[in-house]
Amino acid sequence: MGELLADHTTLRLGGPAPHWFTHADPATWRDLARAVHRTPGRPFTLGGGSNTLAADSGYNGPVIRMATTGISTRALDHTTVEVTAQAGEDLSSLALWTVSEGLSGIEYLAGIPGTIGAAPVQNTGAYGQQIADALTRVTAYDWRTGRTLRLPPTACAFGYRTSTFKTHPGRFTILSVTLHLTRSPLAAPVTYVHLADHLGTPLATRPPLTEAANAVLTHRAERGLLIPESGPDSRQAGSVFLNPTVTHVQAVSIRTAGGPLYRGSDSQLRASAGWLLEHAGHRPGQQLAPGIRCSSRRTLTLTAVSPTTASAYAAVVGSLAKRAYNAHGVQLRPELFCMDLWP
Ligand SMILES: Cc1cc2nc3c(=O)[nH]c(=O)nc-3n(C[C@H](O)[C@H](O)[C@H](O)COP(=O)(O)OP(=O)(O)OC[C@H]3O[C@@H](n4cnc5c(N)ncnc54)[C@H](O)[C@@H]3O)c2cc1C
Repeated sequence: MGELLADHTTLRLGGPAPHWFTHADPATWRDLARAVHRTPGRPFTLGGGSNTLAADSGYNGPVIRMATTGISTRALDHTTVEVTAQAGEDLSSLALWTVSEGLSGIEYLAGIPGTIGAAPVQNTGAYGQQIADALTRVTAYDWRTGRTLRLPPTACAFGYRTSTFKTHPGRFTILSVTLHLTRSPLAAPVTYVHLADHLGTPLATRPPLTEAANAVLTHRAERGLLIPESGPDSRQAGSVFLNPTVTHVQAVSIRTAGGPLYRGSDSQLRASAGWLLEHAGHRPGQQLAPGIRCSSRRTLTLTAVSPTTASAYAAVVGSLAKRAYNAHGVQLRPELFCMDLWP
C-alpha cells in the first residue's frame, strides 16, 4: 500500500510513494529487506521527514519509514554508559531521557526534530554538540552487499553536517545507533555564546544537565528553532542552507560588514547563512512566492503557508542561493535532503 509523502514530511509536501514499507519491529528487518530488494529503484529511508523535501511527483522506488523504538543501556564502568537506540526513536525525547537518567553527551540536542537513525546522516548537531561526539557505533544495512554492518565512527566519515551516509545516498539504512554517555550531574561545557548568555554563565562552564537542556529548549523556542503545532511556521524543515565555509577574502568582507564568523568543529571558517540572506535583502516573515515565506522568526527557515508545491519551494531555495551569491560571492548549499529535486 502506498502513502503520500506529504503525510510523512514536516513541510507537508510531496506526492505518492507507491512502494511503502514501515519498519516497526527490529526482529522483522530481514523479511522487510528481502521485500525491498525485490522492489525496483534505489531505497529511500525516511525518519521523521524533518529534513526532507519530497518531490511533487513522489518517489517511485521503495521508501522505508523507520518506526522502530527501543532503548537499551549497559554500564561500561563507573562513569560510562553505553546506550543503544533503535533508529525510529525520537532524537529530542532520547536527549531528554538521557538528561533524566543523569547522562551527559547529547543534552544540547534536545528540541531537534526527527529520529536518532537520521542523526548520523548529517551529523546532526546544535550548540557546539553533534551526534558524532557521543557516537560509538552505527548498525546499518548495506543495500549494495545485503549485509548488516557495525560501523565505528572512523568508518562514518563524520564532518560538519555530513557523513558517509550523506555522501552515499541510498546505500545504507541505519538500524540503530550506539552512544557512549558519561554519568554526570553536569552538562558538557557551554561553547555557544548565546546559550552561555542565556544561562548567565561564562563560556566553558558546565551547567547542571537539566538546566542546560531546559535552556536549550527555551532558546530554541525563542529563536524559532522548534516546530510549532499550528500557525504560519508549522510547515517547515528547519534551516534550508548550511553555514558556508568562506575564503580569507570573503571573511574580511563579511567581517567588515559586521557579519558573524566562527570556526566549526572541522576548524573551517564559516559564515552564518542566515546573516548572508538577510544582507542580501531578506527578512523574517518575508513572502518569497505564493505560499512560501521566511518563518516569522528566522530568515533561514522557509515555511509553506498555503497550498504550494515542492518544485516551487525548491525554486525559491535556488533563487535565494543566487541572491546570496550575487551579494557576497559565497555559494550557499542546501541543508535539506531532496528526493529527486536536486542531487
Ligand atoms: C525546527 C527544526 C529545527 C532543526 N534544528 C536542527 C539543528 O539544530 N541541527 C541539525 O543538525 N538539524 C536540525 N534540523 C534538521 C533535522 O531535524 C535533523 O537533521 C534531523 O536529524 C533529521 O531527522 P529526520 O528523522 O526527520 O530525518 P529525515 O528528514 O527523515 O531524513 C533526513 C535524511 O536522512 C536519511 N535518513 C533518515 N533516517 C535514516 C536511517 N535510519 N538510515 C539511513 N538514512 C536515514 C534520509 O534518507 C534523508 O536523506 C531541524 C529541523 C527543524 C524542522
